[in-house]
Amino acid sequence: MANTLLKVSGLKVAYGGIKAVKGIDLEVHEGELISLIGSNGAGKTTTMKAVTGSLAFEGGDIEYMGKSIKGKGAWDLVKEGLAMVPEGRGVFTRMSITENLQMGAYIRSDKAEIASDIERMFVIFPRLRERKDQLAGTMSGGEQQMLAMARALMSRPKVLLLDEPSMGLSPIMVDKIFEVVRDVAAQGVTILLVEQNAQRALQIAHRGYVMDSGEITMTGTGKDLLTDPKVREAYLGH
Ligand code: ATP
Repeated sequence: MANTLLKVSGLKVAYGGIKAVKGIDLEVHEGELISLIGSNGAGKTTTMKAVTGSLAFEGGDIEYMGKSIKGKGAWDLVKEGLAMVPEGRGVFTRMSITENLQMGAYIRSDKAEIASDIERMFVIFPRLRERKDQLAGTMSGGEQQMLAMARALMSRPKVLLLDEPSMGLSPIMVDKIFEVVRDVAAQGVTILLVEQNAQRALQIAHRGYVMDSGEITMTGTGKDLLTDPKVREAYLGH
């Protein structure tokens, strides 16, 4: 079996008295595109935040490349190749597209390669090239999502965590974003994708996990989950 990059075991996270994640297990192997789906409030974002070191957990463990992430902060993990594009994107609105991309490479010092990676991002996301000197805050939601993904890729991550990249986007942009996620995965980046758009997320996933009320209720290949009657009824509306 391929190398296990992320191993979540018995993870528990609570906000005060609210148990948001109740002992879940999840694995991501090198080269996989994994989708974590579930309805509002299921605990998907909380899981992502714990995995990236930005939220403490009260039980279980998370291993990244065979070592517990306990005691590591989000920045340590970014340096080790774990990059996240948060819900709501968080691009630097008062900086240009190019400056945002340069910020994404702040952990690197190889100037020539940074320039060639920016060029590579412009090939993946031609829209960003057209707007490279424009302030990020003046771009559409879909364009900002592309920029956020490109900025995360500038750190040359081993694993890219995407939280609801299609949220609030027009249908055309949603198509484009899922296409890009699939392409980035095809280039060898391991991806953990959190999505409410279960149909699209499962279509492109190698494997998926279904989360409900803080628990993983089902797991399987993207195809198996897409055709599962329980998944269809609860998350695909038919
Ligand atoms: P969504 O798709 O709506 O973002 P989600 O599956 O990502 O949902 P979470 O955001 O992880 O769900 O939330 C899980 C539960 O934890 C919810 O009941 C939510 O209200 C609660 N929760 C999340 N953040 C906090 C917080 N900062 N303080 C208290 N409760 C929180």
